[in-house]
Amino acid sequence: MQRIGFGFDSHRFVQGRPLVLGGVRIDHALGLAGHSDADAVIHAIIDAILGAMGEGDIGQLFSDTDPRWKDADSSQLLKQVMALAAKNAFAVGNCDVTIITQEPKLEPYKEPMRDKLSALLNVDRGCISVKAKTNEGMGWIGKGEGLAALAAVLMVGPDQKT
Ligand code: MG
Repeated sequence: MQRIGFGFDSHRFVQGRPLVLGGVRIDHALGLAGHSDADAVIHAIIDAILGAMGEGDIGQLFSDTDPRWKDADSSQLLKQVMALAAKNAFAVGNCDVTIITQEPKLEPYKEPMRDKLSALLNVDRGCISVKAKTNEGMGWIGKGEGLAALAAVLMVGPDQKT
């Protein structure tokens, strides 16, 4: 059985926080506001995995009022979601991510993100795609107020009879 899931996340840029995307630290003057480390890429992937399995969304699992997730490393949250997937006998088939941000340029970070996500999702790096684009200067992303990430994940699950 194969199931597809889709995830979206966005966070606002602020000063005084590190910028972490796809589990990789990005060199930039601004970071992202959020209860956890605000890694929008991993948050979108988590929602895609949960969506594929019909297991709700990231806010249900990791509430943004729960002190346990304050400044949490989102890689650790993804590990917990992968443990839930394993419990449900699901594995990741492939993962396709698009990041939309005016700045910074993410080209140098795409391959490190693929490596990191390949390890977290337990698939070959060839099954991970990370794409980045600007918003052509339009709207809140174009003005640099924040960034957005979108993820599609194929989950390969147990035979439907089991
Ligand atoms: Mg988020």
